[in-house]
Amino acid sequence: MGAPLVLHEDRLFPSDPTQRSIARRLYGQVRDLPIVSPHGHTDPRWFAEDAPFADPSALLVVPDHYVYRMLYSQGVPLQALGVPRADGAPVETDPRKVWRLLARHWPLFRGTPTRLWLDHALHEVFGVRERLDAGSADRIYDRIAGCLASPAFRPRALFERFGIEVLATTESPLDPLPHHRTLRASGWPGRVITTFRPDDVVDPEFPGFADNLRALAELTGQDTSTWGGYLAALRQRRAFFASLGATATDHGHPSAATFDLGAAECQALFERARTGRAAAAEAERFRGQMLTEMARMSLEDGLVMQLHPGSWRNHNPSLHRAFGRDRGADIPVRTDYVQALKPLLDRFGNEPRLTLIVFTLDESTYSRELAPLAGHYPALRLGPPWWFHDSPEGMRTFRERTTGTAGFANTVGFNDDTRAFCSIPARHDVARRVDCAYLARLVAEHQLEEDEAAEVAADLAHHLAKRAYRL
Ligand SMILES: [Zn+2]
Repeated sequence: MGAPLVLHEDRLFPSDPTQRSIARRLYGQVRDLPIVSPHGHTDPRWFAEDAPFADPSALLVVPDHYVYRMLYSQGVPLQALGVPRADGAPVETDPRKVWRLLARHWPLFRGTPTRLWLDHALHEVFGVRERLDAGSADRIYDRIAGCLASPAFRPRALFERFGIEVLATTESPLDPLPHHRTLRASGWPGRVITTFRPDDVVDPEFPGFADNLRALAELTGQDTSTWGGYLAALRQRRAFFASLGATATDHGHPSAATFDLGAAECQALFERARTGRAAAAEAERFRGQMLTEMARMSLEDGLVMQLHPGSWRNHNPSLHRAFGRDRGADIPVRTDYVQALKPLLDRFGNEPRLTLIVFTLDESTYSRELAPLAGHYPALRLGPPWWFHDSPEGMRTFRERTTGTAGFANTVGFNDDTRAFCSIPARHDVARRVDCAYLARLVAEHQLEEDEAAEVAADLAHHLAKRAYRL
């Protein structure tokens, strides 16, 4: 037995005794509320097939780019972690070796949310009571592997044990959604829904864009070589996604740029995009126009819109060539909202029937741009701290810089935004604790009464996400 693994019951609460005791009381009222996960990237196949997870590394290491970007930054090659290569070259296939590599490098995660999430998963999901290190690696591996062999650790059983009320996955319009169809037909009461993520058919710079338009034509029977046929095809796919439970769309654009162009310019831009002749600035205009088109469609079909801009995807070209997308090489860029969103807001910003949830990787925009925008336009809501800011410090900063201007009701609760299924309870627990700590300060400083803070805590933990995402 190595050093003990302890989850302190007061973790993430203020050290000031008055605030701490208020935070404890608030948290006690929200800790067991069901989990609403309206945005994430788990694999719907897990819940459709309900097959056992393969091994501890396939579950906890290989799908988690938070884990391997840190190891990569310290010189561990991705192939040693079993991350598949785009070029098909061999990678490590022994999950125990991958696990040992993580254990040996575990001190790298001190002070990071990954440490909080994985410790929580080890302790609460798998009952591990010793800290991960080189000496304990094999014992912990064997314990998790033993758990995964039992029916109680199948995906559906874990979903129920985690107290998940609803879980959204994210799929391309080109996806025929076989797993969501299986889920619908299965009779299992767990609510797993899809989200319409059209980047690969609205971004002319997306790899294979022209082929994707052809695939879209085949799926819908629409002529996607014309602007009108293309929009009709997108409408049809949105309706198909909604028929399988989707309540939202998601847009991962390089910037928040929107445009509201005339029909002739839309047609000309589409023609250039479709035939691979759009220059960078034209591609940007096209994507920005498509956000406005999506907002228009959202007003028709009621799907909530999410915009996730400001990530420079695949910043590391040689790693991108060898391993493909989503390998921990995405880096935030400075992001403008006030000018960028104006064309869309001029058109639809005053529509209370539209919900556009905006996220940022640029914390400098919280108090200067996003809180003032969301605190004014009825169509706008502020997404929770995302990705690099999904940490206790990031969540605290978010509340401190947005609440004064946007309040709580213009925010939408928490998103775990994860591929790592077993980290979902941990991530929601961190958010609930940090929000209760923030509210405890407001109570201790007599800005709020404790009964009001308790209502807000329940909103932030559960009700706001359901309302904003129409769940
Ligand atoms: Zn996401």
